Amino acid sequence: MNFQELNLPNALLRALRDKEYERPTPIQMQAIPAALEGRDILGTAQTGTGKTAAFALPVLANLLRRPPVGRGRPIRALILTPTRELALQIDESLGDYAKYTPLRTCVVFGGVNQRPQFDCLKRGVDVLTATPGRLLDLIGQGHISLKQIEFFVLDEADRMLDMGFYDDIMKIGKKLPENRQTVMFSATMPPKIRQLAKNIMN
Ligand code: AMP
Repeated sequence: MNFQELNLPNALLRALRDKEYERPTPIQMQAIPAALEGRDILGTAQTGTGKTAAFALPVLANLLRRPPVGRGRPIRALILTPTRELALQIDESLGDYAKYTPLRTCVVFGGVNQRPQFDCLKRGVDVLTATPGRLLDLIGQGHISLKQIEFFVLDEADRMLDMGFYDDIMKIGKKLPENRQTVMFSATMPPKIRQLAKNIMN
């Protein structure tokens, strides 16, 4: 199987050629078609398997296919990840894959001055990558609204729970629209992850 057969938009295929990806990895082959159909996905995948593209490509493709409804430029996709390093990596990958599209991305994480993140948000963003604490801070200050999120990705879910983010994830989940698409990736699938999946997925 190659990327063309996955029915991705040309703008994304062009970016993948620039990245010199020849064919989808197993997690990409499994996740991308289901995600393009709008289904919720629970995947077990470690770092290094290509899981970032497995959620990033269908999120970008679905955003391109469906123009935003209403006025302004609401945040339409939220990717939640446990650490600053992962958040930066994901945002960089999103930028690479989206480079031939009009979609804009932004990343927010704690431990640094929030001013540059705030400026990025003010310019308008389609896909936001965030760590839970800083996301909740910025929501509390009125800089971020999750009311128009269409795609929610929970990355490294087991690590999130290990780091004590369960309550934050549930708080964030309650702020998301009911009729969204949810994709959750975890390296391991213990009972507490299944429980979390039951709570936040269809
Ligand atoms: P990840 O598991 O998402 O952290 O990705 C691990 C590495 O694999 C990253 O450097 C990606 O750029 C790369 N990668 C992802 N998908 C592919 C692919 N289909 N072919 C070649 N490299 C890939």
